[in-house]
Amino acid sequence: MSTRNLFRAVNLEIRHLTRRWEGETTRFEAVCECDDASCALAISVDRALFDAAADQPGHYVVAAAHRPRDGERIVRRDSEAVVVERRPEPVTT
Ligand SMILES: [Zn+2]
Repeated sequence: MSTRNLFRAVNLEIRHLTRRWEGETTRFEAVCECDDASCALAISVDRALFDAAADQPGHYVVAAAHRPRDGERIVRRDSEAVVVERRPEPVTT
């Protein structure tokens, strides 16, 4: 599993737990979903922004401080987070 997919799984869990404990909040603390394995930035993410990204294959929530990498383009922008669209990675088996 790639780092970004791992962090996506973590974020979905955080999202789920936040809703359970605090009710439906507007923001929650997520982990940056960039593909830098050494990055684990905590970013405050708008819940609707995250949900929209989670529904779209290839969309990832990363820290706004990052620059888009090759093959990525910014589709939405928030105060601390941006949603990048990444072309599907070739499947290597
Ligand atoms: Zn990052």
